[in-house]
Amino acid sequence: MTAPYSIIVCSSTNHMLRADQLLVANHVPRQLIPVPGYLGSVCNTAIKVRTADLSRVKELLGGVQLEGIYPLEPQKLEGAGSLLTGILPKEFQSVIGKLAQGEDFTRDELIYLLSLQELPLVEKLYALADRMRRQVVGDVVDIRAAIEFSNYCRQNCCYCGLRRDNSQLLRYRMEPGEIVGLSKNLFRMGIRTVILQSGEDPGYTVEMLVALVKAIKKATKLGITLSIGERAAEEYRLLREAGANNFLLKIETANPKLYAVMHPGADYIARVHSTENLRDLGYRTGSGNIIGLPGQSIEDLADDILFMKEKGIHMVGIGPFLPAANTPLAGHQPGSEELTLKTIAVARLVLKNVFIPSTTALATLNPDAQAKGLQVGANTLMIIATPERYRANYEIYSNKAAVNLERAIELVTSLGRELPRPIRVSMGLRKTK
Ligand code: SF4
Repeated sequence: MTAPYSIIVCSSTNHMLRADQLLVANHVPRQLIPVPGYLGSVCNTAIKVRTADLSRVKELLGGVQLEGIYPLEPQKLEGAGSLLTGILPKEFQSVIGKLAQGEDFTRDELIYLLSLQELPLVEKLYALADRMRRQVVGDVVDIRAAIEFSNYCRQNCCYCGLRRDNSQLLRYRMEPGEIVGLSKNLFRMGIRTVILQSGEDPGYTVEMLVALVKAIKKATKLGITLSIGERAAEEYRLLREAGANNFLLKIETANPKLYAVMHPGADYIARVHSTENLRDLGYRTGSGNIIGLPGQSIEDLADDILFMKEKGIHMVGIGPFLPAANTPLAGHQPGSEELTLKTIAVARLVLKNVFIPSTTALATLNPDAQAKGLQVGANTLMIIATPERYRANYEIYSNKAAVNLERAIELVTSLGRELPRPIRVSMGLRKTK
């Protein structure tokens, strides 16, 4: 039987963007998705089209360099059946059956999985997600480093310590030269992706950012992820052309009403448009959500995961809500560790070949929880490379854990997982297995 969908993999991002523009201009239904793991690279973007449209697509893409057009095979979870032990509820068996067949979950099934309470079932869910992680992205834990270069922010998100109304914060902007120096050190340490993170700070103009991105690219071979909030589409384009590879813009919640409550004065639709814009510019996009926001439901979490699937997100940050001092939510309870872990697990089963960090927020909630995150579907760690003297003023939430490279290496090796090769080489370490 012919697969109902096919995927187009182009020879470069530029060709992919050209192909995408041609399909959009000619009204061919398409979706940008991460290239499935079985075709190779974890994080390149492919174009999904209906197989029925293929002859027209081939005509339209005559001048585009393609690596190939492939049937979109269902990604079956190998060995899922081996977890069918003990007496299991019918719904759970049906979930495992779907994973074994590579079928998509319905929204109700996501809600069912996120609502699981019985420990044996929750543990099976974790085991399934860990198996999927191993199958689609392997045992290497990617380690990325964040430089929090400015804590100025024009937004007023209710949960965030950097919000503009927090007058207790000493605001800072790091000099570009200092950021480039730190980036060089990171590269020497074997880090291959730096995350340049800030509040929404118009004081760091696009010209300054373009110069910064170019300077880091000139001095190192680092991949650059920007996490600088919402900017004009033109600014995103200039930064992409300057060499930025990835862009992290979390949706935080895909429930528009809850989004409006948590982000006074911000526009949910604009956020979605920015996410799409970034994807259409050829960035590898990052998104994610916060678990345990006041007023959030399990249904919301299911919708968050479906949002990330629909938008073809490559990197998915899922962390618990943590109260921050001097914010409207300072007195609220933190999000649940278990629900965060379940959301990571379900996200891995649904989104498959994406980067999922076991977040600093999880480590802050409970120092042992970051290891658990890596055992239930996560495959990435982020270390904080911001110089000590700035850190106390970059507390998006209070008492933020400081995960450094030594801690990350300890964590990865204690779990029997693999370090990225450049880190192993720079630290003179052997492979775990
Ligand atoms: S979450 Fe981001 S945009 Fe919102 S206040 Fe904090 S730094 Fe600013």
